[in-house]
Amino acid sequence: MKNLVAFSRHYGSDISLVAAGGGNTSMKENGVLFVKGSGSALSTIKEENFVALDINKLLAIPKKSYPSADEEREAAFLKDIMDAKMPGEEQKRPSVETLLHALFPQKYVLHLHPSMVNGLTCSLQGKSAANRLFPDAVWVPECRPGYTLAMQLAGAINDKVNTVLLQNHGVFFAADTPDELDVLLKNMMNVLQLEVDKNYDAALDKEPSLERPFTPDHIVYCGIGPELPDNDNAKLLWEDAKKIAKYTASFGGQRPMAKEMVDFIRNWEAESYRKKQA
Ligand SMILES: [Zn+2]
Repeated sequence: MKNLVAFSRHYGSDISLVAAGGGNTSMKENGVLFVKGSGSALSTIKEENFVALDINKLLAIPKKSYPSADEEREAAFLKDIMDAKMPGEEQKRPSVETLLHALFPQKYVLHLHPSMVNGLTCSLQGKSAANRLFPDAVWVPECRPGYTLAMQLAGAINDKVNTVLLQNHGVFFAADTPDELDVLLKNMMNVLQLEVDKNYDAALDKEPSLERPFTPDHIVYCGIGPELPDNDNAKLLWEDAKKIAKYTASFGGQRPMAKEMVDFIRNWEAESYRKKQA
């Protein structure tokens, strides 16, 4: 547990890797998943901010069938995740990305939203650049968060996958030791830095737009315009959006989230909860 708290705070304190309450971490031990609680910040996280869940109960979720209507399906999916909590954890709410953590067989999972990685995932040529630069990584196309994203990931990974890039969202690393996680992260950041330095196209470097957010975090913290909310997290995420916009100029230019996804997230209970915590 000390390892988990230490690496969570270490990465959470670096705003180029994760800003505000975004990003999350987890550890598995004796059939139990310890994952970050929804809305708590990695930079100051304590042992009690992690939620303990039964991995077998979580892994049964992708095999179940759920209602097709968005609201009913997400409510049923959330209930099953909440029901997987270990005794004594009833008052806690685990991360919206809990099932994604459970799906990786490795002991440790690190999920970040680095500006430079999102320069890749939020760009027009993101997928082809990802295939070229990180051939072993799995690319998950933009999709609805919650149940849909979990099902996409369940179908895309296997025991050998240790890196997953989520379009318009961020990256997951999975490994059996914190040191291996660190190698995976540093390697990706080094490769991207070289690309960004080498392929920068000034003609593609444009200001981002509040109305066309890059990732769910930008919706949660910055809103979707016309004005940026007057608080520190909104400003932090807006600085992040500006960096992402600049980095996308190395990968074909900006590709903001699809309008349909933006609308879904604005109405999604899990993100409303996170927004209240922020
Ligand atoms: Zn995320």
